Amino acid sequence: MIAREAKRHTVGVLFNSHVYTGMYPNMFASTIIRGIQAAARDQSVNLLAACGVSHGAELVQFHPAWPELLSDTDFIPVGPWNTDGLLVFSPLHSQERIRYIRRLQDQLFPVYFIGSGAGSPSITVDNEGGIRQTLEHLVSHGHRDIAFIAGDPEDPGDSAARIRAYQLGVREFGLADDPRLMEYGQHWDQAAYHAVRRILKSGVKFTAVMCSNDQSALGVMRALHEAGSRIPWDVAVTGFDDQPEALTLIPPLTSVHYPLFETGYRALLMMRKRIEDGPGAIPDVARVYTQLMTRQSCGCLPQMNDGALGVHEAALSADKGDFNRYREDLGQAMIETLISHSSPQNISDTRMLCDRLIDAYLHSLADEDLSHFQVALMEILQRIEILEEDPHAWQSAITVLRLCARIPPAETVGYRNALLGEDLLHQARTLISDSARRQFTRLHLLQTRKDEALGRLTARLLSSLDEQRIFEALKENLPQVGIRECHVMYFEPRGEDPYGGSVQAPLGRESPDLRFESRRFPPPGIFPEDKPFNLAILPLFFQQENLGYAAFDGQDLDSLAIVAVQLATAIKSAQLHGKVLELSLTDGLTSVHNRRFFEILLEKEIDRSRRYSRNLAVIMADIDLFKTYNDSFGHQAGDEALREIAQCIRDGARRGLDVVTRYGGEEFALILPETDEEGAWIVAEKIRRTVASDSRFLRRITVSLGIASMHGEQLDARMLVEQADRALYQAKNRGRDCTVRFESGMIEAAHPGAPGD
Ligand code: GH3
Ligand code: MG
Ligand code: MG
Repeated sequence: MIAREAKRHTVGVLFNSHVYTGMYPNMFASTIIRGIQAAARDQSVNLLAACGVSHGAELVQFHPAWPELLSDTDFIPVGPWNTDGLLVFSPLHSQERIRYIRRLQDQLFPVYFIGSGAGSPSITVDNEGGIRQTLEHLVSHGHRDIAFIAGDPEDPGDSAARIRAYQLGVREFGLADDPRLMEYGQHWDQAAYHAVRRILKSGVKFTAVMCSNDQSALGVMRALHEAGSRIPWDVAVTGFDDQPEALTLIPPLTSVHYPLFETGYRALLMMRKRIEDGPGAIPDVARVYTQLMTRQSCGCLPQMNDGALGVHEAALSADKGDFNRYREDLGQAMIETLISHSSPQNISDTRMLCDRLIDAYLHSLADEDLSHFQVALMEILQRIEILEEDPHAWQSAITVLRLCARIPPAETVGYRNALLGEDLLHQARTLISDSARRQFTRLHLLQTRKDEALGRLTARLLSSLDEQRIFEALKENLPQVGIRECHVMYFEPRGEDPYGGSVQAPLGRESPDLRFESRRFPPPGIFPEDKPFNLAILPLFFQQENLGYAAFDGQDLDSLAIVAVQLATAIKSAQLHGKVLELSLTDGLTSVHNRRFFEILLEKEIDRSRRYSRNLAVIMADIDLFKTYNDSFGHQAGDEALREIAQCIRDGARRGLDVVTRYGGEEFALILPETDEEGAWIVAEKIRRTVASDSRFLRRITVSLGIASMHGEQLDARMLVEQADRALYQAKNRGRDCTVRFESGMIEAAHPGAPGD
């Protein structure tokens, strides 16, 4: 075996609910996943993220993609069999899922929780600190009657911790303590809307509503608006999590910033340590700290949020005599504020940009030359724009530089031009703001183009009636949507397990089907070994049926569910269409093709014969005196005999190219491509002898056969069939149980069953 160290770790991510509600990724999950991805990239770790999609009817129920098939999950191959450790979001909301994870932990498989409530070890947000900060802030605005919209009473994690913190705060700050002030809003917009209406109806006095998360604040603000309350003048409102929506509310929501990106980033580092150094190597609980982002919904006037800089301020003051340490502190302050305001794709690169900006700033001050700083800032902003990150986050970096202006390092105290520093920072704010506006416009245009491309992909997928077209559409349109990689796998049964096997769908690939054990995903060979993979895996389901899964490049989670859901629908309808087509061209009694199929195929083969001057023969076969067989033994026995004869005919024409069809009643027609008259004669005679010697009939049955053939002549289907019919008529006339080839001058065939037969 190769040395163990050479192997790259693979970490799986399991979310406690669907990552996609309908078509849209959950911001909470996707931001944490982005943090995990950034760390995986920095650490060169493989990532498999199971991303569940809610099923249409149950948008608000939890529906994760999970390593076990349960009543409320889709099976996805991300589990202990193909990863070295699992990052699991908690709480798990289900006893079955809790038991599953407990079993893994009992087997000492590395599991690390994100969020509190399901067990340890875990990384948890400082719920108590966040709630306390919020209450303290509301108290500073003069509020004493503060209502609380709590989360889910069943959730022992974040919801319970936030409730406890509220109750503690009520006592600590001596606030109004009336049970009517707390209602459960389930961390969900609609439920919170009703919760606040219940509080209003109860008549209890309140001047502020603190919400256990931002989602609830959405519903709360709606209910208050409807009740005619003005926010923040009549009632102040605050949230928790600091989701992007918080900024877009009117007025913008004051909320506790939950550093989701950092949480994900640190979770992956912990997992790596756990995998490499064993269970004792990591703490039971790691905390991420919160920060209150004061906006206007609490009654604050517009302002910069630089509350968190206090810690750094102290460090800078202490170290201002030691320039190297001072520089280090400043860099640290900058990277921390940047991470808490945005989610940079690459932390070490961003740290380098911070150092570059700080050096340029100090350099400009020393030289009294603005250009060092301006050039550095221009370069940084260009880079940020190219990486499609948010330039606006760099406003917080400028706030850190202001700190540097207030607490200058000893070295710079002698600099004459104090105004220069202010000038630089003022210019920087304008430049960043311009860059942010450009970026917004650019991203908006890109999004419009992506939406158009998605629209085109949808149209093509839904009009593709066979799988080949579906995969052509994917191959051509996915790059325009921004999806670089997509592997589609179908489940196939292995023994008792309907999901045990996987087969890769041919995404424009000519090579034979790739089959593997699902739980060994990804099979060797589909990803290059020399760099880590980062995959988001989504279930492909149609109604309640699990068709398989799609593994996408996980960089951008935005459009993946749209593609996966439509892909599954397109695949299913192509499969159904194929089945219907097959049924409509097959004879129900004998299972050979029907007359319609004969006609379609004969047109094609005649065309080919003419075009490439190939041989083509047709045989018409008619059962002799079959009416009397029916009369003697009944229709059912007749049907049995027909089935048996169809089988004899199939056995007689076994070449892959030959096609047997039931032409009507007791007549069969064969198409024999690449066959001349001699060849057709041999086939016809073989069929005739097989039928005549078959002992399974209730009496001996024979058939008569007529042959017509062509070799590129100007015949059409009708003429060829008529020639074979005339030959068959001759065979009947010659006493039946024989084969006749068409010759010119043969008299016209009588209608089947005509007198004289
Ligand atoms: P010939 O040798 O001249 O062909 O005599 P024949 O009795 O076979 O010819 P005719 O055309 O008079 O009768 C065809 C019979 O085939 C009529 C019907 O009883 C039987 N037949 C046609 N289709 C079916 C079928 O689907 N099931 C059964 N059991 N019998 C069928
Ligand atoms: Mg007949
Ligand atoms: Mg007949």
